[in-house]
Amino acid sequence: MRQIPPAACRPRIAVYNILMLIDTHCHLTYVGLAERQDAVVQHAVAAGVKRLITIGTHPVDHLPALRTAEKFPEVFAALGIHPQHAHEVEADFIAPLRDAITANRRVVAVGECGLDYHHESAPADIQKKAFLAQLALADQLHKPVILHVRDAHADALAILRDFRHLRFVVHCFSGTPQEARQWIELGAYIGFTGIITYKNAPDVRAACQLVPADRLLVETDAPYLCPQPVRKNKTNEPAFVTHVARQVAMERGITSEEAAGITTRNAHQLFGLDGFCQS
Ligand SMILES: [Zn+2]
Ligand SMILES: [Zn+2]
Repeated sequence: MRQIPPAACRPRIAVYNILMLIDTHCHLTYVGLAERQDAVVQHAVAAGVKRLITIGTHPVDHLPALRTAEKFPEVFAALGIHPQHAHEVEADFIAPLRDAITANRRVVAVGECGLDYHHESAPADIQKKAFLAQLALADQLHKPVILHVRDAHADALAILRDFRHLRFVVHCFSGTPQEARQWIELGAYIGFTGIITYKNAPDVRAACQLVPADRLLVETDAPYLCPQPVRKNKTNEPAFVTHVARQVAMERGITSEEAAGITTRNAHQLFGLDGFCQS
């Protein structure tokens, strides 16, 4: 059952109308960000990015991600096994993952997990097994799922059709408008990164135009994928989600403030952030 926050903690509607953004997917524990977390979180807050979800992708990354979420009131965590690491975990990886997720209510999702046929580090059958186990865990814990799907939309869609009641986001969407449509039919949220600002990504921009407003999310996937206007920075960081939101606004013919309001409200809804005090 969701806890009802005390009145002082309840976000006011006005919060969504000022420029406030949520970076729904970053890796504050990865090299490039881990060694300067204080500055990175400070930059984000100064840019209006008031909440961040850091993603732990491997058992050795889970404790650092949890610690980061405990250290900063702005930061939440999601824990999972990235498909590229699916072959590196023990057969019984679900039990410790369940313990880590339930250890702290600031863990707001299972993931990232999914299928990645672009990188062939883990065989497809091992990826599928780990993916299915994590979907079952999310189902059991009533948590939303952060999906990583690369060059594997057909297989991932087929698997998710058996988990219709799960709430999930297809993070770092890099597919076609047709694939976006199929995900939306399954009830997915779609997360856009700096890819949407790249010259060679017209499909991603076209997909952004057809996503219903109540399904849109923005993220950085930092330290990767610097948006075009700041691409000279080798390391992406959550503050730069402002560039993603600006591009999303342009594609949809709305203001940046409207894009911020829509995506922030959606992130609150998907990840249940309303139960936490506004920082
Ligand atoms: Zn990913
Ligand atoms: Zn990621």
